[in-house]
Amino acid sequence: MAQLAQVIVDVPTMQTNQPYSYQVPPELENLIQKGMRVSVPFGKGSRQVQGFVVGLDQPTDYQGELKPISALMDLQPVLNPELLELSHWLADHTYAFWISSIYTMLPNALKAKSKRLVMPTTSLPDDERQQLFGDQPMLDLATVQDQPTVVSHLLRLRRQHQVKIEYQLTDRARAKTMLAIRPVLNFEQLENERQLLKANAHAQNALLSYLETIQNKTVLQTTAEQTTGLSSAIFNTGVKKGWLEKLSVEVYRQPQSQSQLPDDHHLQKPLQLNDDQSAAVKQINHSIDQQEATTYLLEGVTGSGKTEVYLQSIAKALETGRTALMLVPEISLTPQIVNRVKARFGSTVAVLHSSLSVGERYDEWRRIERGEAKVVVGARSAIFAPLTNLGLIILDEEHESSYKQDESPRYHAREVAKWRSRYNHATLVLGSATPSLESRARAMKGVYQLLRLPHRVNKQPLPPIQVVDMREEIKQRGESNFSASLLNKLNDRLARHEQSILMLNRRGFSSFMMCRDCGQVLKCPNCDISLTMHLDSHTMKCHYCGHEEPIPYRCPNCGSREIRYYGTGTEKVERELNQLLPQARVIRMDVDTTRRKGMHEKLLRQFGQGQADILLGTQMIAKGLDFPNVTLVGVLNADTGLGLPDFRASERTFDLLSQVSGRAGRANKQGEVLIQTFNPDHYAIRYAQANDYEGFFKREMALRHQASYPPYYYTVRIMASHPDEAVAARVVTRLHQLLQKRLLPSSIILGPTPRPIARMKRRYYYQIVIKYKRDPGLHAALFDILQSTQSRGFNDVQVSIDPDPQYFM
Ligand code: ADP
Ligand code: ZN
Ligand code: ZN
Repeated sequence: MAQLAQVIVDVPTMQTNQPYSYQVPPELENLIQKGMRVSVPFGKGSRQVQGFVVGLDQPTDYQGELKPISALMDLQPVLNPELLELSHWLADHTYAFWISSIYTMLPNALKAKSKRLVMPTTSLPDDERQQLFGDQPMLDLATVQDQPTVVSHLLRLRRQHQVKIEYQLTDRARAKTMLAIRPVLNFEQLENERQLLKANAHAQNALLSYLETIQNKTVLQTTAEQTTGLSSAIFNTGVKKGWLEKLSVEVYRQPQSQSQLPDDHHLQKPLQLNDDQSAAVKQINHSIDQQEATTYLLEGVTGSGKTEVYLQSIAKALETGRTALMLVPEISLTPQIVNRVKARFGSTVAVLHSSLSVGERYDEWRRIERGEAKVVVGARSAIFAPLTNLGLIILDEEHESSYKQDESPRYHAREVAKWRSRYNHATLVLGSATPSLESRARAMKGVYQLLRLPHRVNKQPLPPIQVVDMREEIKQRGESNFSASLLNKLNDRLARHEQSILMLNRRGFSSFMMCRDCGQVLKCPNCDISLTMHLDSHTMKCHYCGHEEPIPYRCPNCGSREIRYYGTGTEKVERELNQLLPQARVIRMDVDTTRRKGMHEKLLRQFGQGQADILLGTQMIAKGLDFPNVTLVGVLNADTGLGLPDFRASERTFDLLSQVSGRAGRANKQGEVLIQTFNPDHYAIRYAQANDYEGFFKREMALRHQASYPPYYYTVRIMASHPDEAVAARVVTRLHQLLQKRLLPSSIILGPTPRPIARMKRRYYYQIVIKYKRDPGLHAALFDILQSTQSRGFNDVQVSIDPDPQYFM
């Protein structure tokens, strides 16, 4: 008899999504589980590689020649059955390798270099403890993993919860050492020492007694001091007298103990819902009750109380005995939302924060895996949180492009959320003030259920938006980042002790050209996408179709010579602001001032406490902030995003302006917004000014339809890179020919062209963009490309395939 296991092996140079079969050692039959890691011999010379068990057969009378698994590396699966199945789908769906999908789901502590420590639990009988552990508190699994009898023994004990396994990072820099003590003398010798003591040497007497109790054990000095109440000076005396020695020992980071968790006595009560909120919650909660995998699109203007809808739906999921997962675009940008979830649900909440250390992240992951945490809040990768029994998934700000990962596996959290929703019969809520065109179009078709919150909770109208034409301003007052009306309004707030938020739009880079007289951005005649300037060739290029033209010296629209790059930095703006309004207290928030851990939260807290009058920042301040004293929002340059070579440029600009406008007047004071732009007539700005999502949606949909872009077409980008430009170009041309043969004529293949950022890290990039509606041959063709470019003929060529790319840089 023998059992076969299917294993996905981790061999970087020879990746395949095809599992290999291995024999399970007889001792491990029926004990090994899917989702466990193994070490297996692979390839010529049978070197040992790591792999994941993804399939198991029933034991049969297999007589073949397959090699056996060399070692079992886990005592319990590191991936549960749902995540294992998801990893397979993910690889297939995103044109990634299965192994990289698996790694994406695991916390770093479970990747390659971590120690796997087996420890006895209190229920382990003494004789077995002695047999397996001897005098040691723990056992490194690596030292016994290739002994099937020991491993099978441990597997059985693990199932009965008589041993547990913990993963520790073996990063030397992180290893923590502490001072410990150990008696040097035995009991008799210690008693002899006691005879020599003076009668009043109470402390030394106590130390001797203590040393007698610990015998030859090693004890942390802090523990010894706490137990005895003796000072460290007494221990030093002990060292001098030769009673004990000091040594430093490695200690493992303490997992977060329950006592460190916030206490749950002051949980915030749910708010009384208004009618719109109530209607939304009712529908969502009905789906949760019915265990329906329905997707809701919650379209609520800024300040309409979407978060309260999320919270009361989460409460419903918990009530029905299930768990909930909530994603936010970037957790450090939305501390207020996270705090509200914690305030409502207390210690059942796990937060997967990007600034957690590897160890802290693993602690949170483990709390989730053990079922101690039932609500998870996190950014994109939290979509893989090992929650079981999911009842609700929420994606806040579902339109945000940060939900798409821009390295392999190139997944979109929204698609993964839909998968997990179907798998768990969990309800999915996509929330946004400005839904992505894709989601909104699906809601129109009835694929998603549309829920609307059209009014602000405070019953205030959305703040009025004034658009300032910077072309006029600069003509009259010369170069400045601040128009006269913006300065007036800022002065006004200072006098009234109200706060202002100023946003400098820094999206993208400054390689496109705009006319400062007429606002014209140079665009491709074929694609209606802005041209990118290339200084090497002194041309303007279209990165969609390859169109190329000389860099103009005059504006092709109005003839002006005032045509230049666009781009400005926050520091420069801050300096100008200090000159113009020396009395204003300014907090600057950008990548420079928030690079250090915790700075983001700190700056926001200071602003919230009124320690500054103006918060000046990049788009990182646009999201989720809820400060009641902010009554003015100013956007210094609304158009930078419009110039990017991307068909989503208008949508992103509209989203950003709507988001940031929503920061004003959220409490009982009326707010207002001022937008400075060189393109006051651009429809994205016009519709944002009118707070008209509906109008923008219709207009943009018409444009997408005309130009065959999403949501009418799907897109996929194929990129090839090589240190030698000619090689990259040749490969991508070959791929292009192959695709032309295998795709339907109705699919549109753009390119090949150099990528907008054509050279990165000493490699040249070329790309092809495919637009398609339905093309049954596409998936297989792309996988063939992925697989064939792994082979020898493609030495050092890297090919990546990006489904539904969010950016085309
Ligand atoms: P959104 O996420 O839609 O921009 P929020 O959820 O941040 O809006 O809500 C805006 C403000 O309104 C918050 O301060 C919130 O506490 C408050 N709020 C939400 N719902 C209610 C309610 N039903 N009653 C009173 N205040 C509410
Ligand atoms: Zn012009
Ligand atoms: Zn073009």
